[in-house]
Amino acid sequence: MTDRYFQEELDRLESAGNYRRLMPAEHSGCDVVIGGRRMLDLSSNDYLGLAADIGLRKEFMAGLSPENFQMSSSSSRSLSGDFPVHEQVERQLAAMFGREAALVFNSGYHMNIGILPAIAGKDTLIVADKLVHASLIDGIRLSGAPFCRFRHNNTEHLEAVLSREYGKYRQIIIVVESVYSMDGDRADLERICRLKDIYDNVSVYVDEAHAFGVMGEIGLGLAEELNCLADIDYICGTFGKALGSVGGFIVCSATVRKYLINRMRPFIFSTALPPLNWMWTSWLLDRLPAMKPLRSHLASVSAVLRDALVSYGLEMPSDTHIVPVITGESSRAVSLAGRLQDKGFFVLPVRPPTVPEGSSRLRLSLTANMSPDRIESLIKVLEDEMQLADKK
Ligand code: PMP
Repeated sequence: MTDRYFQEELDRLESAGNYRRLMPAEHSGCDVVIGGRRMLDLSSNDYLGLAADIGLRKEFMAGLSPENFQMSSSSSRSLSGDFPVHEQVERQLAAMFGREAALVFNSGYHMNIGILPAIAGKDTLIVADKLVHASLIDGIRLSGAPFCRFRHNNTEHLEAVLSREYGKYRQIIIVVESVYSMDGDRADLERICRLKDIYDNVSVYVDEAHAFGVMGEIGLGLAEELNCLADIDYICGTFGKALGSVGGFIVCSATVRKYLINRMRPFIFSTALPPLNWMWTSWLLDRLPAMKPLRSHLASVSAVLRDALVSYGLEMPSDTHIVPVITGESSRAVSLAGRLQDKGFFVLPVRPPTVPEGSSRLRLSLTANMSPDRIESLIKVLEDEMQLADKK
């Protein structure tokens, strides 16, 4: 009976073109093999190519022995699951960011659904960019705090909201991402932080998920690049993308860290990630500052791809390694993705409601292990396919 209801819902999703299915995939360098087809993986968040790097894994594993690591933390950190490596990673992060403290979570999703409900209640207004990630939206909803959205990357609109709402709440928290995952564009963090000089009960929460590892001299993200780390109250990021590991983190004051340990439900009520994963994270964090050549290579292949797409007359909001090919209609995105897959490039169409109506696209996400030659052949195929589509 229940299954019949679920099946009907699934059929509805399928006929609306929104059905999701899992595709077993094998990975090899920057390639992915799906259904026997080997393709350049343009859908991965392994931005620096670290997760795919067998040499790095070998080097790391050479330092392991059954005595010096565990495969499970076996409890929440609030109980007996707080291993020395946990605090070590947090001290490392705090030192790299030049801040008092850091706290690590099991994933970026835990981070965003946990921090906001811990720090915001009915006396807080959350003001979020229209395009923030689903995990932030879920965190805002769970907090029960009143909230409003400002137009994407529109600081004038944000300021208008603040001047209208200022004085009505104990605190206002501005929530943004530094690099947006669908458009690849950046937030104007400097201007957003300057609003704190005008409105004294405002704090700023930045999710650097797509910039951590990729931007900044030592890879801390966009706030490092813009030199405004000290102005951001809650700097968050994830280890599962450019760092090639797993987890989420916040860099903050020592008081906020203590507050979260006491109030953040996904932190209190979930088993900490295995010590082995923390050791890998720590090992990679040590090496992150020296990975500048990877960051430079990624920036340069991304610029080549973006420039080519602009020369084909496509709208290009991105100035990063996340490069959208905006096709407008969903059917165009679906057929272009299919043809690119046939030619050896793994891309997926992104359609409403993930992106606004009329802005369906392919989301090309580049990684530092892609050679200029592979990018050139992608550009060539994109050009051919788009010309073909125009003639049809
Ligand atoms: N924040 C943003 C902006 C994201 O794009 C994502 C995942 N794509 C997350 C958080 C969640 O991170 P994780 O995958 O570590 O749960």
